[in-house]
Amino acid sequence: MSEELLAPGAELEKVATGTTWAEGPVWLPERRAVRYSDIPANRIVEFSEETGELTVHREEVGFTNGRTLDLDGSVLQCSHGNRRVEREVDGVVTTVVDSWRGARLNSPNDVVVASDGTIWFSDPSYGILKQGEGYAGVEEYGDRYVFRFEPTTGRLDPVVIDLEQPNGLAFSPDESLLYVSDSSLDSPAEPNPARPAGHAIHVYDVVEGRHAKNGRILVEVSPGLPDGFRVDQLGNLWSSSLDSVQVFSPAGDLIERIEVPEKIANLCFGGEDLQTLYILASTSLYRIRTTVTDAVLHRRSGNR
Ligand code: MG
Repeated sequence: MSEELLAPGAELEKVATGTTWAEGPVWLPERRAVRYSDIPANRIVEFSEETGELTVHREEVGFTNGRTLDLDGSVLQCSHGNRRVEREVDGVVTTVVDSWRGARLNSPNDVVVASDGTIWFSDPSYGILKQGEGYAGVEEYGDRYVFRFEPTTGRLDPVVIDLEQPNGLAFSPDESLLYVSDSSLDSPAEPNPARPAGHAIHVYDVVEGRHAKNGRILVEVSPGLPDGFRVDQLGNLWSSSLDSVQVFSPAGDLIERIEVPEKIANLCFGGEDLQTLYILASTSLYRIRTTVTDAVLHRRSGNR
């Protein structure tokens, strides 16, 4: 185990509770808050570091899931119910992208923004498949991809097409690699022996900033499965699982494990120095102090 990833004496702390299935966290520096989705309750909540309170940000939100900050600081989020990636600024929500070649997206799940401003998101079928996480629907383009969206041109391209249920995603610090989790162990859409149900984080080479090639399994995560995860500035992957946050080196070795008493969906770094890890685990929000931060936050805060 690598002690230096956690701050000396760091202990897991439960800071909020009351959600049904918490997902999609993002740290909002100006509000000093973690905003996240309570998917089955169809609402967005916010935990304030200042007050220590959990408040409802909005209700009847179209079953949002994962979110991130765009380069301009606005919130990009995935919507199961509206089958789109959307932007929220001061409570006003607009569509970023919702279809590919005339077919509606399935139910975008998680999203990241590359340093060139392109928006990469996963599009599994959970929101049209699982009751209570969206509205029943069909896979209009007949599969489940990871897409790359170019806001300047409106161009949308599939970049990862070989996963059963692509879910969490993140780049390596230099963006030469794209990591994508496959969470199909939970609910394979249509069980397919050619694509066995998975619980692995896959890695792809990013070519010319626009293609993901040479997909291979980096690590199988168990117990449970990897849903959301983050990559720190050292290149380590901080992944959700059934019973713990599991930290893997870029080579895929388990180098840290933080036990959490509930099933984990996702996590993010935040706090004043960006080195607090916030963990969304079913009904509750937990946090623990670390010595690192998200590679994206690290880069955007002026470090390289
Ligand atoms: Mg997810």
